[in-house]
Amino acid sequence: MPDRLRRLRRTANLREMFREVLVRPRDLIYPVFVREGISSPEPIESMPGQFRLPVSGMAKAAREAHELGVGALLLFGLPARKDDRGSAAFEGDGVVQQAIKAAKDKCPEMTVITDVCLCAYTPHGHCGVLSTKDGSVLNDETLPLLADMAVSHAEAGADIVGPSSMMDRQVLAVRDGLDASGYGDTAIIAYSAKFASAFYGPFRDAADSAPSHGDRSSYQHDPANARHARQELIADEEEGADILMVKPGLAYLDIVRLARETSDLPVAAYNVSGEYSMVKAAAERGWLDERKIVLESLTAFKRAGANLIITYHAPDAARWLSEV
Ligand SMILES: [Zn+2]
Repeated sequence: MPDRLRRLRRTANLREMFREVLVRPRDLIYPVFVREGISSPEPIESMPGQFRLPVSGMAKAAREAHELGVGALLLFGLPARKDDRGSAAFEGDGVVQQAIKAAKDKCPEMTVITDVCLCAYTPHGHCGVLSTKDGSVLNDETLPLLADMAVSHAEAGADIVGPSSMMDRQVLAVRDGLDASGYGDTAIIAYSAKFASAFYGPFRDAADSAPSHGDRSSYQHDPANARHARQELIADEEEGADILMVKPGLAYLDIVRLARETSDLPVAAYNVSGEYSMVKAAAERGWLDERKIVLESLTAFKRAGANLIITYHAPDAARWLSEV
């Protein structure tokens, strides 16, 4: 047994040489909210430093992220109109479809990922169509709508689509829909291990997607259930996912490791809004060093086995990483 382990920690150069994981700006995915019907960015109160952008702000956002070396943008739409089927989600001139085109038009090199779910597009805020009998979320009735939404994003130029509603067989439905429409090259990032989490609180404010009644625990994972999450990771790979995702991130690094050990697909972890807002709130009070906390957290994601990290810190982190 080596009993002098400090030898390799002695100098900065040695520590650098023996660092096991590195975070690169390319590993980061920046989530962006785009809202129909506004003309200038709206600050998101519960997420300091984040904004809801108008479509006209997308070109600049894409260009800036690209210049910082950020790997991709992940788009969330806030439509002007909501209905029970979430039909604004799959219209050719919907807010996300316009945003994809605006980003790709000015910055074709930027990889664009889109969220594929109905919750921001329905007045009830649930991730699928509701039963008129008992108000439950209907799985199979939701699948074709998700497929249509994904196809319309691919048509607009999205590189990767992210079905996130946690309906059973959503990855299969989206894959079939894309293939049947000639979008065999559009990849799928599957929200496979998405837990019913209180860490999403600020996001619901940002995306105006809080459910009007009940919660999402009938379709998202119970935070206690790692084995259940594993079953979903396996199912999503079999259904045709290209990338598996774990959400939330920091409280779920064991699940990130589980995903890494369960599949050879790339693994993404979502460093969610609540995690972001806690860091920002503590940093504002001077209780934490924001830069150090963020870089340490991102390193922890990589160490746990994530290839990609979806994070609101992406532009800041990319800047900091290029300085070190
Ligand atoms: Zn949803």
